[in-house]
Amino acid sequence: MRIKDFPKDIRPFLIPNHKGKLIYRCLDCNRKFGIETLLYTCPECGQILLIYDENFDRLKQIPGEKWRRIFDYRRMLTKPALKGIYRYHEFIGPVLPLETIVYLGEGHTPVIEANSFLQDKVGARFFFKNDGQNPSASFKDRGMASAFSYINFLIKGKYFENVLAVCASTGDTSAAAALYASFLQPLVKSAVLLPHKKVTPQQLSQPLGSGAAVFEIPGVFDDCMKVVESLSERYNVALLNSKNAWRILGQESYSYEIAQEFEYDMENKVVIVPVGNAGNISAIISGFLKFYDVGIIRSLPKIIGVQSEHADPVYRYYLEPETKKRNFVPVRVKSSVAQAAMIGNPVSMPRVIHLVELYNKISGAENVFFVEVSEQSIIDWELIANRNGHIACTQGGEALAGLVKASGQGLIGQDDVVILDSTAHAIKFSGFTDTYFKNNFPDEFNIIPDPDLINAPVLVKPGDLQKFPAPGSPLEGDDFKIFVKRVSDDIAKFLNLKERG
Ligand SMILES: *Cc1c(COP(=O)(O)O)cnc(C)c1O
Ligand SMILES: [Zn+2]
Repeated sequence: MRIKDFPKDIRPFLIPNHKGKLIYRCLDCNRKFGIETLLYTCPECGQILLIYDENFDRLKQIPGEKWRRIFDYRRMLTKPALKGIYRYHEFIGPVLPLETIVYLGEGHTPVIEANSFLQDKVGARFFFKNDGQNPSASFKDRGMASAFSYINFLIKGKYFENVLAVCASTGDTSAAAALYASFLQPLVKSAVLLPHKKVTPQQLSQPLGSGAAVFEIPGVFDDCMKVVESLSERYNVALLNSKNAWRILGQESYSYEIAQEFEYDMENKVVIVPVGNAGNISAIISGFLKFYDVGIIRSLPKIIGVQSEHADPVYRYYLEPETKKRNFVPVRVKSSVAQAAMIGNPVSMPRVIHLVELYNKISGAENVFFVEVSEQSIIDWELIANRNGHIACTQGGEALAGLVKASGQGLIGQDDVVILDSTAHAIKFSGFTDTYFKNNFPDEFNIIPDPDLINAPVLVKPGDLQKFPAPGSPLEGDDFKIFVKRVSDDIAKFLNLKERG
């Protein structure tokens, strides 16, 4: 829709004009730093950073009700820069001119209600938000759109040139980083570090296809992360892991979209999210807090983080009920089907600790919870969901397993409506379901396939036929007729079909 066709009182707000004053703030010593240079940790004390807008309170001059209308009308705009996560520009990157925004189709992913069969089976009303329907097929695109728009801004402003974007990854961060970097080439190049044999072939193909330099390193993600940190401390590279606070800003869009999708009514809502490096849950908490602060939403949803028994440092931290006695201890991870969340020493742990405390305080009661699930339940629930119309990845299965676990613990109320984060697309992790179907899991996974969930293709090649079609040599005449008849009869027999009367 053209600007002149919008209601008069909305027109001045359609194109964002809030001037933010963004700064990095250290989570430990509270010192502030300008955003003209890329920082990942506090130059004074080494702690991790978050980005704040010192002009944030000005957003409160517009009532929440008006903001809701602005965002709803912005849905109808056709400006590419505002079609993705920057529909919420004022809350995500209010220093970036629209010309510097990189939009590749991220955000506004579908929210799909489970069918009644699945809701009955689980015993709760729930939806999947399909973040696998982002351009590189995971939620990581949200953070990359933000981080690369900012890099683009630095390049255009001549603060920065010849950028080499680097990241360590459990697969999806590298796919997203390489995709966005390739859009900005030749000014930006990318290099990704992956734990050898610990990403799926689909995930490996993504940065290769985008033209990134791909390095495979022995060990697990946490080892790759240390190498990337060493690189970024000693060489001139741009770190794209979620240590980069711009990624967190972009990922907050997930919460804004949920708010908008449910008409800004967060009463009785529960958001369930798988937790690995803990950037996603940090962003989700932070996003809801900002919308609440400005009055766009009137209550804060319950948030539940889910971890596998094979990679559960955040869950373990919160097992201790007394805040003062809590003590973070990294864990040694074991192989997990929720491989994208297989992280023993999450980079964003200090953010989680800070934001969970704040969220609970502002909610007036404990409102963030963590549950732990078995490998078996993760993949079983993924398969069950996908047999009911979903495209959940293993981490999406982890979220659903988390819902079942949380229900069992009394964390889900009778009237609650649950939104599960399916963080990536099922096809990225099809190797795990394939292993399940073939009953080939190494012992360490502790997964025994449920025969009812196993599936395999059936080759229909009747033994009494001599001739079969092949590429370049089709069958003709009677040979073809016989082939079609015999194969269709075999399939009918296999499926127990009744002949038409
Ligand atoms: C990165 C990732 C996660 C974990 O998110 P964190 O922000 O690291 O906690 C979960 N699922 C998928 C598919 C991912 O790519
Ligand atoms: Zn500091």
